[in-house]
Amino acid sequence: MGTRITVEVSSEDQQAGQQAIAAVMAEMRRIDRAMSPYRPDSELARLNQHAADRPIPVSQELFALLQRALSYSRLTNGAFDITFASAGFLYDYRQHKKPDKAALYKAVSRISYHNVVLDPATHSVHFLKPGVKIDLGGIGKGHAVDQAIRLLRKRAIENALVTAGGDTRVIGTRWGRPWQIGIRDPRHRNKMVAMIPLQDVAVSTSGDYERYFEENGVRFHHIIDPKTGDSARTLQSVTIIGPDATTTDALSTSVFVMGPADGLRLINRLEDIDAIIVDSQGVMHYSDGLEPASK
Ligand code: ADP
Ligand code: MG
Repeated sequence: MGTRITVEVSSEDQQAGQQAIAAVMAEMRRIDRAMSPYRPDSELARLNQHAADRPIPVSQELFALLQRALSYSRLTNGAFDITFASAGFLYDYRQHKKPDKAALYKAVSRISYHNVVLDPATHSVHFLKPGVKIDLGGIGKGHAVDQAIRLLRKRAIENALVTAGGDTRVIGTRWGRPWQIGIRDPRHRNKMVAMIPLQDVAVSTSGDYERYFEENGVRFHHIIDPKTGDSARTLQSVTIIGPDATTTDALSTSVFVMGPADGLRLINRLEDIDAIIVDSQGVMHYSDGLEPASK
């Protein structure tokens, strides 16, 4: 997944605790092997190679995650769209590489979640146009974190934190107190804009500072507006709090694309979901559920 994994568990039994952590790491590697776009032998890479030619059967797990990804596309009116990758693969943030206008125009015509057709009867995936590519970078780490928490619970671990990059989920407490998660200042690496106490929830942050380069004062980063194939630029970061990490991961990417007004409107109509947004001026916005009690 190209990211840092953190697992913290508390257990009376040291060996059981260590084994649980090892099991989580093995699970992360398994998911990475299946869903990485960079491994030519991953299930996901196989779809990108062949699913435009014919329907390709995939595992139950990948099929279910694709179904969920498409449900977030419908919920967000296409702000969340795994076919963003049709244009996304033309960028290389490390090499400061971006597509020229003609290449981008062509790639954007392939972006649409409607081009991904799932057949539940055969668990197969078909892309309706040549050149369609998908990438699960906006939801896969959340899924991996949820899988890890499920696995820890199965091992009777009741207090734990699992983080993959910007996606975290906690269960129970940390020595009897709520877990604390810091929200980073998008423009100051070592500063926090907020600390939030958490119990039995997931939190995801999407920011424009994770992978980017600048050209003539314009920031090119890894969250893409499917309408343009260009980076979404109305926000600096979005943090979503919700019941599970697959949801918060997908929604943090979505709200980042939607911008402050549409994004908050969506979050405020969803039950159990809250948001903390840092806009392009560095001003913070909160969803209704987080407004100070005095209001
Ligand atoms: P990270 O934790 O990697 O910073 P985010 O949750 O912020 O992840 O999501 C960014 C990733 O989501 C990108 O690297 C890319 O793989 C994917 N992505 C970018 N734009 C979109 C989009 N519009 N819809 C769905 N996924 C996207
Ligand atoms: Mg996300």
